[in-house]
Amino acid sequence: MATLFVSDLHIDAAGAAISDRFLRFLDAEAAHADALYILGDLFESWVGDDAPDAAQRRVIDALRALTARGVPCFVMHGNRDFLLGARFAAETGAELLPDPVLITQRGERVLAMHGDALCTDDRPYQRLRAAVRDPDWQRRFLDLGVAARRSLAGAARAGSRAHTAALETQIADVNADSVAAVLRGAGVETLIHGHTHRPAVHELTVDGNPRRRIVLGDWHAAGSVLRWDRRGFELATLAPGRGG
Ligand code: MN
Repeated sequence: MATLFVSDLHIDAAGAAISDRFLRFLDAEAAHADALYILGDLFESWVGDDAPDAAQRRVIDALRALTARGVPCFVMHGNRDFLLGARFAAETGAELLPDPVLITQRGERVLAMHGDALCTDDRPYQRLRAAVRDPDWQRRFLDLGVAARRSLAGAARAGSRAHTAALETQIADVNADSVAAVLRGAGVETLIHGHTHRPAVHELTVDGNPRRRIVLGDWHAAGSVLRWDRRGFELATLAPGRGG
């Protein structure tokens, strides 16, 4: 059995194909996994645990079914769904993870992150990230009515799209010094993250030591999953129609 890592599904009501793909994956492969880690941006938007839409409700119910079968599920916040909270965790049976987090995988300590915190060349984004992670900001936002929250989230997404479109490619990717710093700080060989939608396994050297950065892909055209079992890991793209 394998431990599975996914990220960047960006599920919303407009993208039914992604929801269907993910629900098939939960029902097929994930049902037989040791554990499932969702490393951020499960949802395209999350305005509070009290306001899931129909697409999000399907995912909550499917995650509940998975954890009820005894498969541990862990969910990290992404930059889109950083307001996932205690009620979501209770309804799904999933455990919310801090970002970054150290997990032990087959006896090896591995660092997991969403990945947006590594994009330090994008200074305006890092300022925004700090602002919306502030508990006071979050309390004020969640005190608003659902319609007001949805409207603000829509405006934020439009602003984010415009900002990303104007960014140079390398600024939108992770900063190499930031990657080295988190690997050095954690003292681990392997970092797993998503966010950049650039699936790859990068071999690198930090202070003369071999290190590895595994980047999960998004689910826009096909599912992307990192499988890790006793033989090692495999970063795979799910074939359409085969639980993918
Ligand atoms: Mn992201």
